[in-house]
Amino acid sequence: MKTAEISDLQKEYLMPTYAPGIALVKGLGSSVWDAEGNEYLDFVSGIAVTNIGHSHPALVQAVQDQVETLVHVSNLYYNEKQPQLAQALAEHSGLPGAKCFFCNSGAEANEGLIKLVRLWGSDQGKYEIITMQQSFHGRTLATLTATGQEKVKTGFGPLPEGFVHANFNDLQSIKEAITPKTAAVLVEALQGEGGVIPADPEFMSGLRTLCDEQGILLLCDEVQTGMGRTGKWFGFQNYGVQPDAFSLAKGLGNGFPIGAIVAGETLANTFQVGHHATTFGGTPLACAAALAVIKVVEEEALLENTLQKGACLVDGLCEIAVKHKSWISEVRGLGLLLGLVLDVSALPLQKKLQEKGLLALATAGNVLRLLPPLNVSQEEIDQALALIGEACEELEMKQVRA
Ligand SMILES: *Cc1c(COP(=O)(O)O)cnc(C)c1O
Repeated sequence: MKTAEISDLQKEYLMPTYAPGIALVKGLGSSVWDAEGNEYLDFVSGIAVTNIGHSHPALVQAVQDQVETLVHVSNLYYNEKQPQLAQALAEHSGLPGAKCFFCNSGAEANEGLIKLVRLWGSDQGKYEIITMQQSFHGRTLATLTATGQEKVKTGFGPLPEGFVHANFNDLQSIKEAITPKTAAVLVEALQGEGGVIPADPEFMSGLRTLCDEQGILLLCDEVQTGMGRTGKWFGFQNYGVQPDAFSLAKGLGNGFPIGAIVAGETLANTFQVGHHATTFGGTPLACAAALAVIKVVEEEALLENTLQKGACLVDGLCEIAVKHKSWISEVRGLGLLLGLVLDVSALPLQKKLQEKGLLALATAGNVLRLLPPLNVSQEEIDQALALIGEACEELEMKQVRA
């Protein structure tokens, strides 16, 4: 099928919740191909999902083997892959006494985290969760209420109670939002959808101290920042701060849908039999995929590669930003979750890059978000920088002429 045909079929049969432009039919490593056979360098990675690239042979093999052995059993039975995956995540988290719960998406992981915290606080009458302005936590009713962006809430009321917003990187505003009903603060170590904004180190450490003083929980949404994206297994590890629990999804299965809650000792045994469940959570197949992802990140030293290639990308982007300082203001981010911050809309740049064969993502209006796979090569980084440089030249010429 060609793009026009796919697009017509989609318009007829799919709810118009998305507005795609190109149709992708194949992926390999850092590249994807559209229905017309054009190749693109994929610096979106399904928004921090395909962290080890497309069709990684070790992942393909693990999924194939597991499909032939056992795809699904109910959680009424043990399956050996689930505790193995939980052990790997608990160990990499560094949280003492950590335990996991598996589900299927980021929103579902956060929804579970919210339930976990409410159950923990229920006998003290604590249920409020403080979340940040510009945050993003998902599209279910509770998680869109937690999200600090009005645009995702409009028209969906009545919304669940118990969510309060404060300002990101502003400890004073968190202090002011605390009440006797506060159970937890939920924060992203780096706001992805919010515009690639990293937390300040003093904010993260101050938050931990504040939560301890007040007897409330610190939760991290690691759905986008987790699984090596920032150069550490989890974003909070950049700050030397440990949350009481965190959520995962996106990169965990490299495209195989799986989400998780990882909770330290305070919350590890709060859910008991019957408190929470989901049919597809932690199937042998999903866990085999995630175990393969973790093995690849370890064996191919992808945390190191993320830091090294991230630093190269930042250097190159800074050079471009200096050249175009009349309309590019900043480069920011962690690891391979980077943003080129413009003084204008990032959409024309995203569009121009796509025409040139580089997929990147305009975010929060004026930020071009770059999320290459964690095993991206130096050559691919150089190629992307050349394309971004060219696109910026052309856009500037157009601005000058206009
Ligand atoms: C994508 C994202 C979510 C939602 O994940 P879904 O799998 O789309 O439900 C939640 N939190 C953050 C930080 C995200 O980036």
